[in-house]
Amino acid sequence: MSAEKLKLGFIGWRGMVGSVLLDRMREEHDLEHFDTVFFSTSQHGDKAPEGSSEGELWDAFDCDALKKMDIILTCQGGDYTSRMHGELRKASWRGIWVDAASTLRMKEDACLVLDPLNKGLIKEEIHKGTLDFVGANCTVSLMLLALAGPLKAGMVDWISTHTYQAASGAGAQNMKELLKQMGHLYNHEAKLIEDPKSNILELDKLISAELQGSGNYPKELFGAPLAGSLIPWIDSPMENGQTREEWKAMVEGNKILGLTGNQKIAVDGTCVRIGAMRSHSQAITLKCKSDVDLSEFTELIAKAHDWVDLVPNTKEATLERLSPAHYSGSLNIGVGRVRPMNLGKEFVNIFTVGDQLLWGAAEPLRRFLRLYLEVTA
Ligand code: NAP
Repeated sequence: MSAEKLKLGFIGWRGMVGSVLLDRMREEHDLEHFDTVFFSTSQHGDKAPEGSSEGELWDAFDCDALKKMDIILTCQGGDYTSRMHGELRKASWRGIWVDAASTLRMKEDACLVLDPLNKGLIKEEIHKGTLDFVGANCTVSLMLLALAGPLKAGMVDWISTHTYQAASGAGAQNMKELLKQMGHLYNHEAKLIEDPKSNILELDKLISAELQGSGNYPKELFGAPLAGSLIPWIDSPMENGQTREEWKAMVEGNKILGLTGNQKIAVDGTCVRIGAMRSHSQAITLKCKSDVDLSEFTELIAKAHDWVDLVPNTKEATLERLSPAHYSGSLNIGVGRVRPMNLGKEFVNIFTVGDQLLWGAAEPLRRFLRLYLEVTA
């Protein structure tokens, strides 16, 4: 029985994205369909986790061991991809490479995976013999999932999206730094915070002084205060003034949708890090190709796929559901604040929230593996 299963090599399974992915694969019984070997860059020889077909962790830098795999699934990061993907392909390994890192995303012969949007394209690429399948940037995947209905209907002219991105996008240590920042601010002025008679302006002055660097407010990783503030810069600069995170929205978005040349949809906006833990939000201005009928439009959004959670544009529903706190740990994508805009009849205002480690990183990869099995059965 097990000889018929494809050999899957999993690298990066104990990292943040990898452990969310492994949990989801266990929940969905994905591992039962593969002979899975777990690799490590630092702990090879240690006991492998549950679900492994081998007792020990294999060495993630051992090219001969990796070459035995039919599929390599990696959440190890860009440096690992740059080194081992190249080495394996040079050694004529023709297996399937599935990756969470951005390194290969814009390679012409790599396919970006987000099957609720591009299942047909992914299937075509599998039939064509494409070997590299990569998860897209988290904000891009979450934006497309929220807008799947109007995008598939071909009614979108352009998109302006301003993001409110969680600390988790910067990694596990950054999530801890955010919590340290919160704790630091509270502990610094706990007495005044708890004293109902304390003067708010005096308290604000003391907290502002901490944020402005008079004490030892911890900001080594973010490089700026996040708790009590925000950071309107994510990733490296591009020549045109955008950040790389902002640049990804248009290039990756159109690649997922398979749009080229003058079919491409313009996407732009400012990416901002805020003090949320693990769900990203986006405020979207959508310009449609013609006047919008809001009830038809809302229905299109709601019925696009199983994971849209349409939140009515009321204060009660918004406060109850439309927040990072509500969607963290959930596969649902909250879509709310859907309303016409003063800008004109073709414009719609939308606010969306989704867990950036689930649909933003892990889920498209595990769903690709199942789709690959289905297509090649
Ligand atoms: P991460 O948590 O830093 O994990 C990467 C690797 O670090 C692990 O696989 C592990 O490798 C090693 N490691 C060392 N000490 C560890 C510890 N105490 N706990 C767990 N692992 C430890 O990386 P990540 O944030 O998941 O990101 C992985 C890739 O996914 C990156 O390319 C990233 O750009 C991409 N991605 C990230 C996000 C995100 O939100 N963070 C979203 C989409 C895509 P060994 O077992 O080999 O030592």
